[in-house]
Amino acid sequence: MPSNHPDPYGSPMLVLSDACNLRCIFCSSQGHGRKQSAQRIRTLIGKGNENLLIGEWEEPTLSPKLPYWISFAKKTGVKNVILRTNGVKLSDKKFAGDVIKSGVDKIHINFPSHLGKLADFLLQRKGAFKKQEQGIKNLIKLSAATKIALVFVITAFNYKTMAQYCQFVSARFPGIKTISFNMICIAGYVNKRKFLIPRMAQIEPHLASAVRFCALHGLRSMVDNVPLCLMNGFEHLSVDLQCNSAEKNVPEKNKQEVCKSCSLSGLCPGIRLDYAELFGCKELKPSKKSPQLILTALKRNLQETYKEPYRKFPPGSGKEDFCI
Ligand code: SF4
Repeated sequence: MPSNHPDPYGSPMLVLSDACNLRCIFCSSQGHGRKQSAQRIRTLIGKGNENLLIGEWEEPTLSPKLPYWISFAKKTGVKNVILRTNGVKLSDKKFAGDVIKSGVDKIHINFPSHLGKLADFLLQRKGAFKKQEQGIKNLIKLSAATKIALVFVITAFNYKTMAQYCQFVSARFPGIKTISFNMICIAGYVNKRKFLIPRMAQIEPHLASAVRFCALHGLRSMVDNVPLCLMNGFEHLSVDLQCNSAEKNVPEKNKQEVCKSCSLSGLCPGIRLDYAELFGCKELKPSKKSPQLILTALKRNLQETYKEPYRKFPPGSGKEDFCI
């Protein structure tokens, strides 16, 4: 699973496999994975955290014990078990059924394109798109559509198709409610494949169309790794904003000189350092918007989106009533 970011809340993360059944061209996880021992997994589950992530640096569905560990975590009292997968193995109906029966709460699927050929190219495996599509349909048949969040890693090859992607999801995958647009990270394979990285200013209008479509069609959208000033009009969909990253000193992001004059500086952790090193900061456009306006939109969006909030901002953060 080519992940773009570790969990901002520091939830425990299970690594159940050393391998992956795809070789995504944009994978930023290359070389990070190390399968954990059963004892280590039990310890992580037993930590008493509300949330547990499964799959970050590898493909967790390659472990036959995946349903067992999900069910173990649920019995231990973990409130949210979040599976991150490429979805290929879920094309096996029985396996998909076992995963759902185990009690998994959310399934984040790396699904970078709705166009078969482009998807197979990005996933670097012929036929991968068909398998993913089948896997998603299996979950929908199992009445698990609302557990799914589709992850669209934004690359130079697919950014112009984001709005059509949303239309496809809305038409072909009934019941799916969430799409996360994650700007590609310059790590792993991407270090040697800079041609994959679009300029953030280029993607902004396409992102705007995509999230607008989502808003009008009952889909929830999120945007990760894009600074607020490049999300004009949809700043409230920023994962950084929702996760309070500005106050957390996220090591991979930093504010630049230009940020000093930005009204949203208190809400934004800045730009990814790897991106700034490569392209500079000329694309950043310090905002003059009222932070309160953005926070109000965030609050409204979250209230509308989360019927059953599962995470609260800490007391004293000023955002105690915003739940994600
Ligand atoms: S100018 Fe800087 S602080 Fe303001 S939104 Fe952009 S990156 Fe964030």
